[in-house]
Amino acid sequence: MITPEINPLQRLADGTVKQLNPFTGTEVWTVPGRANRPLPNYLPASQPLKDGANRYTCDFCTQNYRKTTPEKMRITNGKLEKELLLDEAQANPADVRLIGNLFEIVSLDYWKTNHNYQISKRAREHQERYLMDPTGHAHITDLVSTVWQAHHKCDPQDVPDFTSDQLLEASEAFFGGCHDVVVAKKHYRDDATTTADLCASGDLTPDEHFAYMKLSTMAQYQQYMENPHARYVSVFQNWLRPAGASFDHLHKQIVAIDQLPSKASREFARLHRTPDLYELYGYKFAEENNLILMENDHAFAYASYGHRYPSLELYSKYERLHPWELDDEQLRGLSDVLHACHAATGAAIPVNEEWYTRPIGIPATDARIPWHIVLKWRTTTLAGFEGATGIYLNTIDPWSLRDKVGPRLHQLADEGRLAEGLELS
Ligand SMILES: [Zn+2]
Repeated sequence: MITPEINPLQRLADGTVKQLNPFTGTEVWTVPGRANRPLPNYLPASQPLKDGANRYTCDFCTQNYRKTTPEKMRITNGKLEKELLLDEAQANPADVRLIGNLFEIVSLDYWKTNHNYQISKRAREHQERYLMDPTGHAHITDLVSTVWQAHHKCDPQDVPDFTSDQLLEASEAFFGGCHDVVVAKKHYRDDATTTADLCASGDLTPDEHFAYMKLSTMAQYQQYMENPHARYVSVFQNWLRPAGASFDHLHKQIVAIDQLPSKASREFARLHRTPDLYELYGYKFAEENNLILMENDHAFAYASYGHRYPSLELYSKYERLHPWELDDEQLRGLSDVLHACHAATGAAIPVNEEWYTRPIGIPATDARIPWHIVLKWRTTTLAGFEGATGIYLNTIDPWSLRDKVGPRLHQLADEGRLAEGLELS
């Protein structure tokens, strides 16, 4: 039953749109006249790109494998491989790879100290094998030195020599930590001529994007399986610096935490009162309000409402399945819709891609939360009005967003840049 006082989308006589997010309670207003402003371009300054060094500019680039932690998993030409050694990894750069974050949000030490967490058998075996290998040993020594230097704010010559035991302990986080990064192969597009031609999600082919999604769902599952104290595993992607990215190189992050976020708890309370909340305010509501952008057999997307920023939202049609439980066809369907949303957004807009998934310990019968993803366009800065009132000013209302994205989707489809099987509105 719909709570009578919820009216998520109201257009007033003067054109102001008032939005109330039925899942989170977020209150948003769009005032008329601001939606037509041109979208900002946040790409880095354009410098000519040479074939040499400046193609491999950041630590995530394929030439810099030594600057990142050992590979936990990778997909190359559709083939999954696990726990590689450095020489193996470098010999054949991965299409997409899973590595531990060198500077974790929630550190391994947090898990060990507060939960007596031990790294998994898989991680320990990989670590021992890696350290037995001379190239691997040198790689780990360099990484431990890098982290030591950063923590002690000292020069390279002041880093001490580490004993084998110290190396073993200090490198545990690289192999069995609970904050991972899924890194795409390319920093720049294949046809790039300048440093502004970054390779964003929408610049991948649908096949490449599927491999990227597949590895991300596997990484989320592995975090849940290997850490019994993980109540929630968050998956997100920050694109460009205004969206919080430290590198302009496409990557997702997978972070385990030991509690449900309070945002999720509030949503569960709402679901308890209204178990069919997602049916009422997902597809049906978006369709009634003419906001659907596209769908295929496995997923759909719409111009969303009730978010602090202009947002595209997409849903898996498999209400009960966790991301890693979708078979390849089902996941491919969702990946194609997400890829199209990114492609229509373009590379110049900073975007947070946020995954919303049912925590593993909560059965689908208790909380009917389908896997859904929100793409937030970080085109505005929150200011005093938001802080003081809790009401967010979003510059683009959902219908204006639909009118910006819809034609772009058709154009991309005509150019053959989207996957087959998408039904565009
Ligand atoms: Zn890079």
